[in-house]
Amino acid sequence: MTDSPIRIAIIGAGPSGFFLAEKLLHQSEQPVIVDLYERLPTPYGLVRFGVAPDHEKIKNVTRAFDKTAARPGFRFFGNVAIGSTVSLDELRTHYHAVCFTTGAPSDRRMGIPGEDLQGSHPATEFVAWYNGHPDYRDCSFDLSVERVAVVGVGNVAVDVARILSRTPEELAKTDIARHALEVLRHSRVREIYLLGRRGPAQAAFTNPEVKELGELEGADVACRAEEVTLDRLSAAELDKEDDAATRKKLEILTSFVGRTRSDKPRRLTLRFLVSPTDIIGNDAGRVAGMTLGRNRLVEGEGGSLRPEATGETETLPVGLVFRSVGYRGVEIPGLPFDERSATVPNEAGRVTDHGVAIPGLYVAGWIKRGPTGVIGTNKPDASETADSLLADAAAGVLPQPGASATAIETLIRGRQPDLITWHDWERINQHETETGQADGRPRTKLVTVEAMLRAARGG
Ligand code: NAP
Repeated sequence: MTDSPIRIAIIGAGPSGFFLAEKLLHQSEQPVIVDLYERLPTPYGLVRFGVAPDHEKIKNVTRAFDKTAARPGFRFFGNVAIGSTVSLDELRTHYHAVCFTTGAPSDRRMGIPGEDLQGSHPATEFVAWYNGHPDYRDCSFDLSVERVAVVGVGNVAVDVARILSRTPEELAKTDIARHALEVLRHSRVREIYLLGRRGPAQAAFTNPEVKELGELEGADVACRAEEVTLDRLSAAELDKEDDAATRKKLEILTSFVGRTRSDKPRRLTLRFLVSPTDIIGNDAGRVAGMTLGRNRLVEGEGGSLRPEATGETETLPVGLVFRSVGYRGVEIPGLPFDERSATVPNEAGRVTDHGVAIPGLYVAGWIKRGPTGVIGTNKPDASETADSLLADAAAGVLPQPGASATAIETLIRGRQPDLITWHDWERINQHETETGQADGRPRTKLVTVEAMLRAARGG
């Protein structure tokens, strides 16, 4: 342990950034100063821009983040883009350690014809749009169509299907972006298909999320008996592993089979063992349908079950496609990158180059392990990175920065007069919650950086 604090920059104010800051600030081995950088004026990352607006309780985790922000030694540098406002090399001259918690901001591709037709969108863009992310507020989604396919059966696909199914009255009570509420209010969507390429036992969604689909006010749910009946290999796997969560999932899905159609305005159908092989366009280059190939499950590498085409196909007439096949990490200039996993190579959070740790560089969260797990999964993940960093500090292997902690603030303020501090964010927050509460909503999000800056300045 040294007496003078070690100075740490964390890049990305999502859950991993906050969990990492908390672990570093709430320990007695080593005094630290943590500066949390964020490209946008607002903190919380995917808690603000990823968590569905009708899942308000999940956002309560921000209370813990606010406690971290109140700890001595914490500073927030919002509206600062690393790589343009300030470079990684510059940061490294001011800090003992720089940690990246930038998540996985892009989406995976499916690699099929028609993927880029008008009306075929990454689900991640739709999510960012309805959650009021400034970069996505101008996206447009044609909800005048009657049928929509959501490809993938993870929790993001479930969120998208559920938001499309909600009534305007339900949505109006949430913090969904105003522009999205307006478009969804006039939605003419009647049929929503969730498409899983493997069977029900392999579906990536979690049980509370899929159960909720059976309880929607505005949509009936449906499943085909033959698609939720377990195949021989899945049944054998389930018997061997005695997996209670998967049994429960199958029970929920089976309860969706044969439900009678009510007078609800929409229907949401979960399909399994089907893969889109082609998104079909009309003469105007817009999505008009999709070819679905039927699959069977076969043993894949490492014992997991993978889909294999049977050769049987069908056409699904849909006018809109959301591709919800996973997020993807993006290369960070100056850091090594593994294209296959779209993560930064690391050992327990220490960034490595060909297996050798680069002193003073760390990662946590999705850019470290890939886009998996719920918000809480990032806590032990960030904790591991913090332990590596503190061990390196104790071992004296962190690079010694030349410049001081105040010098970096002066440098940034010189380049970004609209720097957003934590106090500024509190003003934005107050503005959003006050305007929201006047409308009976938890908050009304500001969706442009300019409006956020005005609110921060009390305008
Ligand atoms: P995910 O859980 O990895 O699901 C991706 C889905 O896409 C899987 O069903 C996958 O099927 C399918 N897929 C991948 N490639 C495909 C292809 N080429 N064709 C057809 N299907 C394909 O990812 P996610 O839904 O984006 O969620 C990311 C993480 O955030 C997850 O850990 C999720 O649980 C979490 N999250 C949680 C919540 C919540 O707690 N409420 C909400 C949103 C997100 P295979 O399994 O066959 O690969």
